[in-house]
Amino acid sequence: MNLYFDLKGLTPKGIERFCTEELRQKPGQGLRVAVWLYRRRVEDFDAMTDLNRPFREELKKGCALSSLAIEKKTIAGDGTEKLLYRLDDGNAIEGVLISGPNRLTLCVSTQVGCASGCGFCLTGSGGLVRNLTTAEIVNQVFAAWKITRGQPISNIVLMGTGEPLSNYDAVRKFAEIATDRHGMGYSPKKVTLSTCGLAPMIEKMAGDMEVSLAVSLNATTDEVRSRLMPINRTYPIARLMQALHYYCDKTGNTVTIEYVLFKGVNDSDDDAHRLMGLLKGLPCMINLLMFNPFQETPFERPDEERVYAFRNILLNHGFVAVVRNSRGKDISAACGQLRAASRPTGPGPAL
Ligand code: SF4
Repeated sequence: MNLYFDLKGLTPKGIERFCTEELRQKPGQGLRVAVWLYRRRVEDFDAMTDLNRPFREELKKGCALSSLAIEKKTIAGDGTEKLLYRLDDGNAIEGVLISGPNRLTLCVSTQVGCASGCGFCLTGSGGLVRNLTTAEIVNQVFAAWKITRGQPISNIVLMGTGEPLSNYDAVRKFAEIATDRHGMGYSPKKVTLSTCGLAPMIEKMAGDMEVSLAVSLNATTDEVRSRLMPINRTYPIARLMQALHYYCDKTGNTVTIEYVLFKGVNDSDDDAHRLMGLLKGLPCMINLLMFNPFQETPFERPDEERVYAFRNILLNHGFVAVVRNSRGKDISAACGQLRAASRPTGPGPAL
């Protein structure tokens, strides 16, 4: 046998198939390996003590368990931790650990850079370098687990660098690993995928990927949305809404609408009324976020008063709307501020 397979890239069902078909093990043995690996986080085959010794030797001969190192950790004043991971090819990606009352949320990346080019996002400004593999996404969770000092990661959000639905197959496998009972065992409610609005892929997700869905809407007219988010020229607001209704009808899920407010661009009372018109009949909740300005951006952060006035219009008409405070602003870990990804640096000094 001349196999050297990275098990971290396989779903529990994939590990089971590999163990029965390639290693000639009895059914169920591969699922035990998956539980040791993903649920108990054991990365040493010798420590998987309820597997018989010859099987463990076969696993050692035929399989690899890849890993990812956190090269740098930066802690913000509010406790948010920004993590810099170095990939084998020298590229870097970032993630964020956000602690809150009774929860610890890990934000993971799905691509090196991003092709979507949203006008308010630092990641998008560098373009796409490449997709991450499933193992590279999984290993972000493993690396973060090791630094949480025993506190369990309660939620995973796919909101780091990259557009998850542009890397569909790898992300779908990650979602299965995260939510399968022989995998990490998260409830689908605790794993959230955020997209800029790839309508056909949202429809594909329905019934194929069991996670929570969040969509960045950010505007109420095609003119403004196309300016903020070039994806709108391919999938305008009406097409996106059609996909969201299809998704909600087919899954019975509620979708989270993310709406970043930009001063004087999309924060007027008229915008609030148009937003309600768009979302009428869609099972959703609305997250309102204030833009986090960075150098070179033409956009400005709105006044808090305006943001709460916008929210109150939504609340007064029966919508569920929450103003979310971005965390980690002082270390550029807030929404739209991750960017290490697109720099292929090779083995050099820490960023
Ligand atoms: Fe890509 Fe998301 Fe940034 Fe848009 S907001 S450019 S989809 S990372």
